[in-house]
Amino acid sequence: MVSRVIPVDPFDLVIFGGTGDLARRKILPGLYRRFLAGQMPEDARIIAAARSEMDEDAYRAFVAEAIAEFVEPGHRDKAQIQAFLARLSYVATDAKGSDGWDSLKALMRDGVVRAFYFSVAPSLFGALAEKLHEYGIADGDSRIVVEKPFGRDLASARALNATLAAHFNETQIYRIDHYLGKETVQNLMAVRFANSLFEPLWNAQHVDHVQITVAETVGVGGRGEYYDRAGAMRDMVQNHMMQLLCLIAMEPPYKFEPDAVRDEKLKVIRALTGVGHDEIVRGQYRGMPAREGRKAEPSYTEDVGNAHSRTESYIALKVGISNWRWQGVPFYLRTGKKLRNRISEIAITFKEPPHSIFDEDDAWRENVLAIRLQPDEGMTLTVMIKEPGPGGMRLTEMPLDMSFADWLSEDADIPDAYERLIMDVIRGNQTLFMRGDEVEAAWAWADPIIAAWEDRGERPHGYDPGSSGPEDALMLMHRDGRRWREIRG
Ligand code: NAP
Repeated sequence: MVSRVIPVDPFDLVIFGGTGDLARRKILPGLYRRFLAGQMPEDARIIAAARSEMDEDAYRAFVAEAIAEFVEPGHRDKAQIQAFLARLSYVATDAKGSDGWDSLKALMRDGVVRAFYFSVAPSLFGALAEKLHEYGIADGDSRIVVEKPFGRDLASARALNATLAAHFNETQIYRIDHYLGKETVQNLMAVRFANSLFEPLWNAQHVDHVQITVAETVGVGGRGEYYDRAGAMRDMVQNHMMQLLCLIAMEPPYKFEPDAVRDEKLKVIRALTGVGHDEIVRGQYRGMPAREGRKAEPSYTEDVGNAHSRTESYIALKVGISNWRWQGVPFYLRTGKKLRNRISEIAITFKEPPHSIFDEDDAWRENVLAIRLQPDEGMTLTVMIKEPGPGGMRLTEMPLDMSFADWLSEDADIPDAYERLIMDVIRGNQTLFMRGDEVEAAWAWADPIIAAWEDRGERPHGYDPGSSGPEDALMLMHRDGRRWREIRG
């Protein structure tokens, strides 16, 4: 199946932080791919801004290098790259000073969509919003895109919302959670609300429990300083995993339209139960000495350069949703770094049949609908069947497997999350972006959990790199008579 590409309206997209890591790895290669796909109209332009002094040629060379490094070889076409680079300008601009703002204003055109991507440290979001107004660069229809992290607790998120609200309406603010731009995450909504098959089963009567796993094999890498101030709860759970949970648990919105979807997600977050001391396990990866054929691996504390760090690189927790649909159904969330495999998965485990007519009870396995976000996006439904052969009525489980990559043809054009989300900004569609009240509600849930472990002065449990996380996380499930799914690549 080949996907359709619908060009967007002409635009001026300003990327603040246009020389930064995110711009280089994701935003600019993504825009090039959209250009190649024919989604950018003739008069779409990209203006990068950062403090560094460089001329247009130097900036274009920087972007050409980013494309060479981060775009797949099959998509690197010399003529197309040149045509894309011709759309780029660069203006040295200081968010905190007056440099560059007049030049930036002079470049902006009337009659096209104006979007401003704040790909800079969150401490600069307020200054950028103010400057855009002070210099009359943003108008009532302009959009701003803000990156994560959106605050580090409820108070800072509220303050940030208030700063942005001083200059922009909520309909102009696009808070990015790139998980929402993933194909499978959107498919979650299609699976639930475009099929009559699943929805009757999607409740406490039929669902035993839900597991959401985001496992990474990498450590904190070069992000040590930021990560050590955040930890897995702030970096993953409060935002990405919360969004996944919302899409699984929310009621059907009356329409697939921004506020209808976001209203339903908000209701889920507000209905989340607290998480008790014994319903949460925090971990920190240990180091590994050099062994046969493998180099020594640093521990978390060595990676972040803070020997006394109590920040978690792993977290597992159990949470409930206090409403009619989900009463009594536990949602188990876990995420961590330096784990056995890289996998993101949502697994919905259904209850056992009310009565078994077969002798072989112990062969019975639950029906599980597993939705994989990575590495290969797809869905698997495990069902029980009769084991083939003449050996009587023996049961065995069989996966009904659907890999999206297998089903879509090679030339299918599946944009990555950032590409899709940037095009949604230009289209003015906020469905896949977080609303201010959603973010605040998620912090209102997370804050007391974080405060509780900080009050207890708790140290995270150690776990070995390449493992499934701390032993205690297994107990979280075993106590309930359940087990985590294997972290398989
Ligand atoms: P980065 O590599 O440190 O880049 C920061 C950018 O901001 C640079 O282009 C820098 O250029 C510019 N800048 C700094 N001070 C400025 C000022 N006063 N005025 C104008 N520009 C200024 O950061 P990043 O990794 O790209 O991250 C950008 C944002 O995305 C952050 O909010 C981060 O949390 C978020 N994010 C990043 C990733 C990622 O994978 N990198 C993932 C998720 C979210 P000059 O020094 O030349 O001014």
